[in-house]
Amino acid sequence: MIVIVLGAPGSGKGTQCKEIAKEYKINHISMGDIFRKNIEQKTKIGVEAESYINEGKLVPDDIAIFTLETTLNNDIDLLKGVVLDGYPRTLIQAKSFDKYLEEKNLKVDKVINLTISDQEIVSRVVNRRICSNQECGEIYNLKNNPPKVDNICDKCGAKLIKRKDDNEKTALNRVEVYHAQTEPLIDYYNKKGILTTVMGMGNLEDTVNSIREILDLQT
Ligand code: AMP
Repeated sequence: MIVIVLGAPGSGKGTQCKEIAKEYKINHISMGDIFRKNIEQKTKIGVEAESYINEGKLVPDDIAIFTLETTLNNDIDLLKGVVLDGYPRTLIQAKSFDKYLEEKNLKVDKVINLTISDQEIVSRVVNRRICSNQECGEIYNLKNNPPKVDNICDKCGAKLIKRKDDNEKTALNRVEVYHAQTEPLIDYYNKKGILTTVMGMGNLEDTVNSIREILDLQT
């Protein structure tokens, strides 16, 4: 099963993708996590991507496509299935991904479109905290999903951190970028008949259940 989760920043993509990967025992690719790891390790990709990410812009398509395909070729067994979190984010990426899959006789099976209002996005983003332990990477929100102990991950006990790009100014840029460059993908996948929209605003468990119902029809 190849699943894409689309959604604005703060829509809960990361949290939902982790759930999907765990429940259906498929791979999880978070493009944002891959870029952050590259930045930390100061790789060529990291150096090229950093300023775009810090300004809330998209990393150029050629770099994003190269990064995704390298990850798929080296680390991922597509036959086991994958849920893509934050990829594709432009029509160019979507079309290139379709071509990449076609060459392997595969296709995108399902696209989940997580919706959230623009007002909610900024609040979600500035209140987001993530586990500093990359192996864990649990995602919290100080308002609607806080850790049990301040600044400590419930799951692994590591410290929680705030992403550098999770500030109000960058969040507003990311909202604009989302509407201009990523939203057209809704129409692209809708026309293929594989997109389902799920409200990302409600309670976490309700969203998980709605996605489960959609994916259970697929498996
Ligand atoms: P995320 O963790 O999904 O919020 O992504 C963080 C940042 O990484 C985004 O704001 C972009 O700057 C960059 N990024 C992640 N995925 C992509 C992509 N598919 N194409 C271009 N830039 C991306």
